[in-house]
This record gives sequence, structure tokens and C-alpha cells, in this order.
Amino acid sequence: MESNENNLTDSSAAESSVKERSCEQREALPGEPRCVICGRYGEYICDKTDDDICSMECKNILLSRHADTTMPALRPPRRVNIPMSDECFYVRDDNITISQGLNRAQIESLRSKIDICVKGQFVPDPVLSFTSCDLPQKLEQNLETAGYIIPTPVQMQSIPAALLNKNLLVSADTGSGKTASFLVPIVSHCTRIRSKCLAEEKKPLAMVLAPTRELCVQVEEQAKVLGKGLPFKTALVVGGEALAGQIYRIQNGVELIVGTPGRLIDLLSKYDVELSEVSLLVLDEVDCMLQKEFQDQVMQIFRALSHPQVLMFSATISQEVEKMANTIAKDLIYIYSGKPSRSSKSVKQIAIWVESKQKKKKLFEILMSKQHYKPPVVVFVGSRVGADLLSEAINVATGLRALSIHGEKTMKDRRDILRMFLMGEIPVIVSTGVLGRGIDLLKVCQVIIFDMPNSMDEYVHQVGRASRMGQEGTAIVFVNEGDKKLFRELVQNLKSAGAVVPRELANSKYLASTYTVNNRNKRKYGL
Ligand code: AMP
Repeated sequence: MESNENNLTDSSAAESSVKERSCEQREALPGEPRCVICGRYGEYICDKTDDDICSMECKNILLSRHADTTMPALRPPRRVNIPMSDECFYVRDDNITISQGLNRAQIESLRSKIDICVKGQFVPDPVLSFTSCDLPQKLEQNLETAGYIIPTPVQMQSIPAALLNKNLLVSADTGSGKTASFLVPIVSHCTRIRSKCLAEEKKPLAMVLAPTRELCVQVEEQAKVLGKGLPFKTALVVGGEALAGQIYRIQNGVELIVGTPGRLIDLLSKYDVELSEVSLLVLDEVDCMLQKEFQDQVMQIFRALSHPQVLMFSATISQEVEKMANTIAKDLIYIYSGKPSRSSKSVKQIAIWVESKQKKKKLFEILMSKQHYKPPVVVFVGSRVGADLLSEAINVATGLRALSIHGEKTMKDRRDILRMFLMGEIPVIVSTGVLGRGIDLLKVCQVIIFDMPNSMDEYVHQVGRASRMGQEGTAIVFVNEGDKKLFRELVQNLKSAGAVVPRELANSKYLASTYTVNNRNKRKYGL
């Protein structure tokens, strides 16, 4: 029994080990990814270039070719803060807003698609790209370098409004991109003022108040990334660091002060800090900042400024917050950003055991079934070629308009495809890997995981794309023996989501062997 188990474990490990030589790999079946070097089955994705490859041998050839053709200076800029799996696919260099040419009803429909509600007078239309905002060119570059290729929903609406000097009260959670919602207008504002007036003495132009030291540190870090290479210096005024250093920085000239109210009051009471030119004030987590603990300090700082534009961000906008915000700033525009739930619990998961050769047929059945097809749909596949071929096959077999989206498409194509998806012109997108933040903008009702991804993390992320606030999405996953590496975790995930585990999966010998190995380990450790 022991040796059998070992054999089974060893042989499955050998089966799943990476193929060294191209000749060890089988030929690709129709619809499967092909190695970009030799055309055999592209079982793996090269971690450096994201291309489909069949073996280590072809990976090495690919990398050596890449090294020959890629001059260091031409390498794409490293992304900051963005997980590698995030693939942003709206474009830059788009000088028109999506809302140009759209009527009121269409703009409202767009807002509803990105879960944005607004209240107030003269609210500008949302933008779908940073380049529609007439930002300083260097700031646009910094956004791109940071991986911010498209704005998140809250940014789409609050950035254009802030750039019009409006006072804002925005409901946005951490994780929604709220920091850049105020930092982009701040950097733009400061750069424009500094480029007009080259005064020697550089008094602060903007201030961000946040309730905790940690939040301030994060805000300042992001401000530095966005303001890099621009006349934009920052000072952090928080506890735990010497006041002398903080005042020294401010006196040497900064554009932005980021700080906690208590520490700022402390600093203002001890030193002479000129705040007369602060014309933009951000109150982050304003619901917390206007509570008793901070309220007096915040108001004291506010009174030291001369009528700045005020941008307030809060997790929720209660009547109380609204009332207090109104006492601080006039003619407020309210922006409510919906909170798409990222938990896969609000998604109904349906796992279906489908042999590889039957997957297409099964997919077409779902897409043509009145009962099961719930557009808009994102189909996740394992390779770029697979995405192209499958989208074509969907068009032919079902008559539904489907387009593929992946890293090989030009930025213009990606933007056009997403725009059509967003506007409801195409109901099905076939995508490789994880569609990054951009897909969060879209109201996806159904996700079909045609090819199981390589990890459960990615699986959970893909399932989560169908999860929207206030409605239950569906994630259908095709699974077969080829996905055995993930069986155990998948079963756990399905069970905890209350989903039915397909009989073939529940009875799989691979599932059993994994458990046996675990049990054996337990015995070994005397558990
Ligand atoms: P925040 O809600 O500001 O805490 O942002 C959450 C995360 O999203 C941070 O890691 C940001 O760097 C990132 N982020 C913010 N805006 C964008 C964007 N437009 N595109 C991609 N990532 C973003």
C-alpha cells in the first residue's frame, strides 16, 4: 500500500513536471494553444514574455530571441503596485471621452454600468481614459508607469469633477482607487500653478488630511509616484517622526502636505507655516474625520486656509456626514461609487465535468440555452490563440457576437472591444487569464471558465468577476482530469460555496491520493 501510494504520487509528479525538450511535447489539438517557437502544444505560458510555449527548450530559444531584439531602453516600464495578473486593457492616447457623442440617456446608462450615481449641479460626464482629462503629459506617463492605464469607476467620475474645481463628497471604499481620485487632480493642480509662476518661495498648494499615520504614508507614497519628475514635492506630517525634519521639508518648499490632524495642529502651533496658498484640501475618510475626536482639529485647520476647493471621501455617506460636509463646502457634488463585492460567495458556482474534446459543444449549448445563457458573459481560456479561435467558433456556431481580448491585441483593439462590451453591443468576450481591474468596470453576469487556470487564486479571481453588488452572478467552470493538480482545493472551494461537486470530481483517484498523502504525513508527525 505504501509503495503504491508512493508510485502514484511519484508518477503524477513526473507527469506534471515541466517538459524539458520540445520533442517530449505532443502536437497541439485544434483550438489548443500552440508553442510560439515550434508549434507543438503550448502547455505553458512563459513567465517573462507571456507567450505560449511547449517546453524549457523553447522557452530558452524564445528568451534568447527576445534578448536579441529588446534593447534595455525599450523595455516596458515596470508596473508599480499592480499584481502581475492584472491586465489593464483600455487604452491611453484616447483624446475623446466615451461620453462625447452620447446623449443623456446613454451617459446615465454608462454610469449605471460602472455603478456610479451622482447628485448636484453641473456634474461633468464621466471619462473612460486619463488622456481625456487634459492632464500634464508627465502625469499621464506616471499613471501609465504605475499601471493605471484606465481609471477605476470612482476615478472616471471624480477626476473630471475635481478638475473643474468642484467641491466633492465621494463615497468610495479602500481598494476602489480613491487615492488616485484625489491625487491626480492634486498633481495636475500643483503642476499647473507652478508652471505659471516661478516664485522662489514655494508655499504648499494642497493638503490631504487622513485619520491614521498608515493611511498618510500610503497617500504620500502614491503622491510621489504620480508626481515624479514634476515640480511636485511632498511633506509627511505624522506622529512617530521628528517635527524638526517635517518643518524643514515644508520650509524648503513643498507642493503637498499629507498629515494627520493632531500632528498638523501640533506643527502649526509651534512653527510658522504659511498655508495661505493651499487651494485644494482633501479630507480622506471624512466620516471618521468629522467625528468628535477629530472634528475640532479638522475645523481648526480648515479655518487656517482661505476657501480651498474641498474633496471629501467617505466609505458611506450618511445624513450626518452629508450635513457636516455641507457646512465645510458649498455646492457639493455627491458621487456614490457602488461597491462590487469581490467575494465569490455572491456568485453561484456550477462545476461541470467536461472532457476537453466536448468543451466547445458544452459551451455552445450554454450560450444557446434560454435558461442558462445570462449575458454579458466573459469566457476565460488558457491561451491567446485559444481565445481567438474560440471567439470565432462562438460566432459561427451560435450566431452570438463574441470577441477575444488578450495581451497580443493592440491597445486600440482592446479599447474598442471593451467599449462595445460596456455599451452592450457584444454580449460575449473570450479572454485569456485574469482580466485586470478593467473588467471590474463591466457588469458581467456570467463567467464561464472554459480552461481551469493554473492556480486557485486565479480561479477565485475569475469567479469573482461575476460578482456584483445586488445581483447574483453565475460562474460555470469546466473541469476534467487535466486539472487534477487543483482538485483538492477546487472541491474545498465548491463545498464552502455550497456548490455541487460533480460525481467524477468527488470520486477522482487524484483527490483520494492527495488525501492519503496528507494522512501519511500526519502519521509521520505523530498526529
Ligand atoms: P486605493 O483605493 O486608492 O487604496 O487603491 C487600491 C489599489 O488600486 C492601489 O494598489 C492602487 O495602486 C491601485 N489603483 C488605483 N487606481 C488604479 C487604476 N486606475 N488602475 C490600476 N490600479 C489602480
